[in-house]
Amino acid sequence: TEQTFIMVKPDGVLRGKIGDIIMRIENKGYRIVAMKMLTPTAELLAQHYAEHVNKPFYPALVDYMTSGPVVAIIAEGEQVVAGWRHMMGETNPTLANPGTIRGDFGREWQAEAMMNLVHGSDSVASAQREINLWFA
Ligand code: ATP
Ligand code: MG
Repeated sequence: TEQTFIMVKPDGVLRGKIGDIIMRIENKGYRIVAMKMLTPTAELLAQHYAEHVNKPFYPALVDYMTSGPVVAIIAEGEQVVAGWRHMMGETNPTLANPGTIRGDFGREWQAEAMMNLVHGSDSVASAQREINLWFA
């Protein structure tokens, strides 16, 4: 069965949305097969966000993502990678459709880093890479 890597980001934890987000995963019929809470290090994030390390927003992204604990989750189900991306909504919460997690709960736009509550792998290959990284 297909797996994806999901994360409740620090703003999601701080705003008390862990339960809501887990409920959406389970209501959709996806199975949570692993879960843990941790505060990511800058080193881990540099690997996780390798495609973004040279972007102008990267330093702000690291500040945001190391500001507190996150919940790291492996979820499993039919086409879970694409399905979860739909459920999260657009990266920018202002543009995310109502009904999506970012559309319903997203609020913050810091000048430098988008705070958008959740992460989801963008492909099956990314999912495998991220699962190996976060659950080594
Ligand atoms: P994620 O990878 O976290 O699931 P995503 O795939 O929708 O989100 P990416 O393009 O991979 O978005 O960007 C990773 C994260 O970096 C975003 O979720 C957001 O927090 C931040 N980010 C992306 N683009 C910008 C930007 N232009 N300005 C500020 N922050 C950004
Ligand atoms: Mg991404």
